[in-house]
Amino acid sequence: MWYNAQMDKDLKNRTHKELEQLALDFGQKEYLADYIFSFIHSHDAAVLDDITPLSKAFRTKLAEGQYFISRLQTVEKLVDPDGTVKFVFAAADGTQFESVLLTDEKEGRRTLCVSCQSGCRMGCAFCATGRLRFARDLSAGEIADQVNQAVAHCGKVNNVVYMGMGEPFDNYDNVIRSLHILNDRAGKAIGQRHITVSTCGICEGIERFADEHLQVRLAISLHGPTDELRQQMMSVAKKYPLKRLLASIRHYQHAAGRRVTFEYCLINEVNDSREHARSLARLIKDIDAVVNLIEYNPHEGCAFQPSPRRAIHGFRDVLAEAGIETVIRYRRGRSIRAACGQLGAARQGG
Ligand code: SF4
Repeated sequence: MWYNAQMDKDLKNRTHKELEQLALDFGQKEYLADYIFSFIHSHDAAVLDDITPLSKAFRTKLAEGQYFISRLQTVEKLVDPDGTVKFVFAAADGTQFESVLLTDEKEGRRTLCVSCQSGCRMGCAFCATGRLRFARDLSAGEIADQVNQAVAHCGKVNNVVYMGMGEPFDNYDNVIRSLHILNDRAGKAIGQRHITVSTCGICEGIERFADEHLQVRLAISLHGPTDELRQQMMSVAKKYPLKRLLASIRHYQHAAGRRVTFEYCLINEVNDSREHARSLARLIKDIDAVVNLIEYNPHEGCAFQPSPRRAIHGFRDVLAEAGIETVIRYRRGRSIRAACGQLGAARQGG
């Protein structure tokens, strides 16, 4: 409660439009919001006095109203030999969470994988984050500030994926607000098509997202072509069986007209046979989708093992024969526990 009240006064947590309203509420000109937003998100203003274009009187009024600018502390910055960088950030109340920067020099892509919660309530069996105690949702400002801080440490970020700690549609409003902040031209101006939100399959979230009319990409973690298999790996699958999930995805495609990505983590002798691939192809044949096949990252406390490369290639070949576009995502950032499903592993001793 205390923290939520604080967040309400955090200017970093407000969209450009909300700052315009705030300026008007203070009897100021609406355009002053441009300065507030750009000084916070482009010039890394840390305190109100850093927003120098505002009059001293306006800054004093904001301070008297308890308004402030939050800033994440960087607790740790680890660099893997493959160039992947993991950040451990702490919010003002000490809550910690992680982001991962992946660089693809050839393509000129610098992608930050952000967290939207500290911990996760979904408890997927293959994921280290799901084994952590859930701490809390992150505010929109805390989500967006992961990008600001990564840029301050490492330079440009041109892609953002919501695939770090937490389930985006379990923190829906803050995630949507953070998308508007990150996309804003006065701030980091990350193009909507360069942002991906990834859900484990919360159907109400997918349906709401369809109505946001955003160009942001949607990814859905599938990890198995049958309800039985999904339920072994993801407890969310008990609430939302595949029939319901696919209906939500069709609704999304109809409303948003956008291609989706299916994430499929290949686990040795669990979901990686050619028969699984054939079932998957049948399941998604009428959906406009690309499938990301992810090489599983093992961690202590979890018995799952990665599929051998020949199984990954065999799986990909079956999908390709069925006309499904497939991309293989090999592990990165393993030595710093920054790979998919490993975030938070260090804190549980994994
Ligand atoms: S895979 Fe995603 S949704 Fe599942 S427990 Fe991990 S962070 Fe949560």
